[in-house]
Amino acid sequence: MRYSINLNIIRLLFFLMTSFVIFLLLSQWFYIRQALKEKETEIIQNTPFWQRKSNAELKDWHDISAMTRDAERSGLGEHGKAAYFTNLSKQKLQRELFKEHGFNALISDKISVNRSLPDIRDQGCQNLQYFADLPTASIIIPFYNEHLSTLLRSLHSIVNRTPPELIKEIILVDDFSDMSNLKKPLDEYVKLHLPKVEIIRFRKRQGLIAARIAGAVKAAGDVLVFMDSHVEANYNWLPPLLHEIVLNKRTAVCPMIDVIDDGTFEYTAQDEGARGAFDWILDYKRLPLLESDRKNRTKPFENPIMAGGLFAISREWFWELDGYDDGLDIWGGEQYELSFKIWMCGGRLLDVPCSRVGHIFRNDDWTGVTSDREDDYLHKNYKRVAEVWMDDYKYYLYKHTHGLYETINEGDLTKQLALREKLHCKSFKWFIENVAFDLVKSYPPRGITDFAFGQVRSLGAPKLCLDSMGPPDYRAIGVDACETMRLFPSRRQDWSLSESHDLRMRGEEYCLQTAERKPNSQLLLYDCSYGSKDQQWYYNRRHKWLVYGGKRHLCLEARPEFKQVVVNRCRKHYALMQWQFAHVNHTLLDAYFETLP
Ligand code: UDP
Ligand code: MN
Repeated sequence: MRYSINLNIIRLLFFLMTSFVIFLLLSQWFYIRQALKEKETEIIQNTPFWQRKSNAELKDWHDISAMTRDAERSGLGEHGKAAYFTNLSKQKLQRELFKEHGFNALISDKISVNRSLPDIRDQGCQNLQYFADLPTASIIIPFYNEHLSTLLRSLHSIVNRTPPELIKEIILVDDFSDMSNLKKPLDEYVKLHLPKVEIIRFRKRQGLIAARIAGAVKAAGDVLVFMDSHVEANYNWLPPLLHEIVLNKRTAVCPMIDVIDDGTFEYTAQDEGARGAFDWILDYKRLPLLESDRKNRTKPFENPIMAGGLFAISREWFWELDGYDDGLDIWGGEQYELSFKIWMCGGRLLDVPCSRVGHIFRNDDWTGVTSDREDDYLHKNYKRVAEVWMDDYKYYLYKHTHGLYETINEGDLTKQLALREKLHCKSFKWFIENVAFDLVKSYPPRGITDFAFGQVRSLGAPKLCLDSMGPPDYRAIGVDACETMRLFPSRRQDWSLSESHDLRMRGEEYCLQTAERKPNSQLLLYDCSYGSKDQQWYYNRRHKWLVYGGKRHLCLEARPEFKQVVVNRCRKHYALMQWQFAHVNHTLLDAYFETLP
């Protein structure tokens, strides 16, 4: 009996002990699992969005109830319809405000700041889903004397049509506006109605670029979104932009820019979309969509140059690119700088058709922003961009504005050049051939085919340059004191070794040819004959010779004592036969003999 009791007690004890051990193990396991989970979320929260392993969960970001509310709205300008103001007593005021702002500011006042818009996206956009886990955005809007109701509509359109959890903040940068309603009244309005908005105020006018930089410095969101102060964000505009940045951190994305009419505020599409480009005075141009982009109207497509005002970029990537060049002043050129940088330094630029934002393109007569500065900041900006990013292609720009750029001091570029070096950015030739590959066909630069051009200096008599010695009139040409402008001297000293293999007055029809076919012969300017051996010249870079007439081995020789030039048998290391062009296009010259007829 005693024995059997003992056995039962032992059994019981054994059972209790195992249960205890199992309980211990289980609770331990739960504890560890919980701790791991917490650690994981902590890691996720502290990891930048592009390093998070996206679990690829997608979601429909449309705010259906807001869209339904909008659909029910009625009133002036609602649904992006054209608005008219017919009160005759206010016509004068309407004209004045139009002139001041470059758009119908009075009609803006009559339209609700919360107005509805037409959903003009491709139908397919309505069904698209984007990552459920998207980064946050800091929206940066510089403004200078923006009309108040237009500015407020920009802000409300953003707040009304963006999921709140995606907006880290909206940063307004007041570029020292002087309109009084943009000061206290704006502060008070924002405090009351737009809690996510904060305002930075400049104490002197610094321009759009400095304002964007200031906003970016302050921003804490994962992604920076730059916008103008006269825009209206359309339905579900932000998620498609952020989605592309999650896919590739080095992507900058632009929404499609719709048109808000400057007179009626009607909201319409510009066209089917286009790829950004420029001509050789750096005016912004648009290239047609590629056939492949046209096939799928909801798919983001590659864009060589951003329009400038509206885009999103990861904060990290923006600063890796050193933001904007802070030597760019007031306005202009910054879209080229950033677009070149993005493409050439390992990123890419996309236009996203399912993201749409309207913009007021101001009336052409409007001169507001540029009026109070005398200096030519625009061309200074262009020169900075050209000097840092455009390599030899910059000469096409300089050539198209005869002499303008030689008088412009572009300032210090050490920092920008060092960045290009540090990031191992590709060449401009690469950009033109691979990204903007159809630009040159649509916008051919003049003189793109010159082998060499500009002043031709004698190395044996370095103060002297090849000179037509007056107008081209069958007088012998010679050498004369070099002018100070090298790339764009006056007509007398401006030569080109042209694509027709002749040596001519640049851009003209006068070509160099000997008076007689023998040594010591002087040179005259004849009408160009395109392809005749008597007008054929070659520039030998090794010996610095200007070689005349095909294979006859005659070289241009300076006679400084008489200010003359002649041709004679080529002699090596003979300084009076050595010449230096202001600019040589090495790539073209390498292929000189292949291009001979
Ligand atoms: N802007 C600014 N300071 C300036 C010029 C412009 O803050 O010196 C602002 C302007 O209010 C606008 C944005 O920068 O929000 C872009 O300028 P704008 O709309 O004149 O450029 P566009 O759209 O004509 O290229
Ligand atoms: Mn604008």
